[in-house]
Amino acid sequence: MIPYVREIDFEYGACDQVSPLIRRVVANNPGPFTFKGTGTYIVGRGEVAVIDPGPDLPDHLAAILAAVEGERVTAIAITHHHSDHSPLAGPLKAATGAAIYGCAVAGHEAEDTGEVKMEAGHDHDFRPDVSLCGGGAITGPGWTLEAIPTPGHTSNHLCYALKEENALFSGDHIMGWSTTVITPPDGDMTDYLESLATIRARAFTTLWPTHGPPIREVTPFIDAYVAHRQERMDQILLALADGPASIRQLVPKLYADVDARLHPAAARSMLAAIIHLERGGGLEAAGPPGPDTVYRLA
Ligand SMILES: [Zn+2]
Repeated sequence: MIPYVREIDFEYGACDQVSPLIRRVVANNPGPFTFKGTGTYIVGRGEVAVIDPGPDLPDHLAAILAAVEGERVTAIAITHHHSDHSPLAGPLKAATGAAIYGCAVAGHEAEDTGEVKMEAGHDHDFRPDVSLCGGGAITGPGWTLEAIPTPGHTSNHLCYALKEENALFSGDHIMGWSTTVITPPDGDMTDYLESLATIRARAFTTLWPTHGPPIREVTPFIDAYVAHRQERMDQILLALADGPASIRQLVPKLYADVDARLHPAAARSMLAAIIHLERGGGLEAAGPPGPDTVYRLA
């Protein structure tokens, strides 16, 4: 079982000091993929970085600007281009003059059909001023952020380590309240599992996801996250041992305990798992990746 953490004490638009160097303002965009809303982090004092300004909501921009009144925003750091994370970067830059840091997505996007509508969608306009696709650092007085490429949830996902607190802003890569959705082709399970190992090896004290409260028991949490993915893959292989089947047939079987409204998301994550298993030689596909393609054990 994943030891989820979901208790979070906050008020929309208010700025809370959550650690010596970190403040948080939560946007009023709750939903099935955003939990209570986007948690925007402000790092440092006087000259600050803003991580994941969030959706383009005027009230949230006003709340961030109020929180940093009398200070200078020198950097806007983006974890990835989903529309609950990056769209406010442009307006915040216009208001503060700060540069935008992140990684532009290379191209391929998941098809947005009504059936598989994921998260709030993609911010197709996202273009950072400074590219951190290969990693890199952002510094200010008393703080150092290190960008760590963590593809998987999206191909361009970055986590940001805060050196002074051995903490990590984990974006949607690791979330305390939920597992993360992996939507092929931009999302990739093989990359995702490697990125979990990358973060685990760093032995951070605290993870600050964009949605929800911090994760304090980091290694056990990541281990449970990995075990959960492995369990889902074992279930797929076990189900296919009964005979070939499509994702559309497997999802209601394997996700019987999950709210049916989340089955389209489950189908995308299952596709990501199946592509990963296929690469490993565990199963074979009778056609291109998709919900009606029939899969069988290799
Ligand atoms: Zn996301």
